Amino acid sequence: MTLSADERARYQRHLALKEIGAAGQERLKAARVLIVGAGGLGSPAALYLAAAGCGTLGLVDFDRVDVSNLQRQVLFDTAALTQLKAEAGRERLASLNPEIRVVAHALELRAANVRAVLDGYDLVLDGSDRLSTRYLVNDACVILGRPLVSAAIHRFEGQVMTYVPGHGPCYRCLFPEAADGVVANCAEAGVLGVLPGVLGTLQATEAIKLITGAGTPLSGRLLTYDALELRFHEFRVERRRDCPVCGDAPTITEPRDARPAAPESRAAVRRLTAPALKALLELAAPASAPLLIDVRERWEYDTGHLPDARNIPMSELPQRLAEIPRSGDPVFVCRSGARSLRACTMALHAGVVQPANLEGGLLAWAAQVDPSLPVA
Ligand SMILES: [Zn+2]
Repeated sequence: MTLSADERARYQRHLALKEIGAAGQERLKAARVLIVGAGGLGSPAALYLAAAGCGTLGLVDFDRVDVSNLQRQVLFDTAALTQLKAEAGRERLASLNPEIRVVAHALELRAANVRAVLDGYDLVLDGSDRLSTRYLVNDACVILGRPLVSAAIHRFEGQVMTYVPGHGPCYRCLFPEAADGVVANCAEAGVLGVLPGVLGTLQATEAIKLITGAGTPLSGRLLTYDALELRFHEFRVERRRDCPVCGDAPTITEPRDARPAAPESRAAVRRLTAPALKALLELAAPASAPLLIDVRERWEYDTGHLPDARNIPMSELPQRLAEIPRSGDPVFVCRSGARSLRACTMALHAGVVQPANLEGGLLAWAAQVDPSLPVA
């Protein structure tokens, strides 16, 4: 793949580097990179890879741009609100660099489609905020022999590692499988806006190195970043011979959908929006009104709570599960909906038939139903 005069002009700072040069730039032009998750990590990765002249870029994301994304997802501007991230991202990247091809995959990666999507790409960057997607992408990359640069962020900290097929460990070697909901995501835990900028840019750096052959990839090393202390650490990690996907006798030989936290019961958690809960409370006869259980700590509850809500703080719930009727469809509430979802899972394990979760918590209630409710 030779470079046009326009391309030579556009990429002259790369051409000046002997580690990249015309040969490296031509490899970039021929490269096909899939970015899973057009969010905080995917945004800088996609922008830099598009600017660098990566010939084909795929964006996987089924979400739409929300105003709370704009604090860190620099691929989007305010005019892109409510648009599909994959589509809005494609337009932004195409205007940044018309020389490249950008493909929008507005879909959720699942075992059923991951092969078909990955088939069109040579290299994968994972910036997904879901553990189930993370394991699915890792397994698919190992099985299909695709290099993978995986990054994750949490509050003020991030980590990144590169999987090179046939060399070094995969993501599963480092992190034994955990289910969705066990680790809080950005929405629940918060994240410093600039943090994914650092990690996503490292992912793009690794991609360019893998494509051009420059430097040494971050294989067999986990790099962690602490923004508060402004410190990087590096941990050496080995491939596990007993890894279920990249080990000597793999048990995962086909991409599969991860088991959720409580497969037998997760489907039984009802999800209620704030307006739906309001309707439910208004329609129910007093005797059959659902039991409301507020799992916030006592001081939060005392600041303001829903009428008739019973307070069982999350910290006491394991000892007080017996207080919850096994039927009667209790509704769990907390500040943002995260603790109460965990409470639902615990209640399910304790035999409660159909617990419900107030999605978005009392913050959503205050925003959508009753702004007079003080939420601590
Ligand atoms: Zn492995």
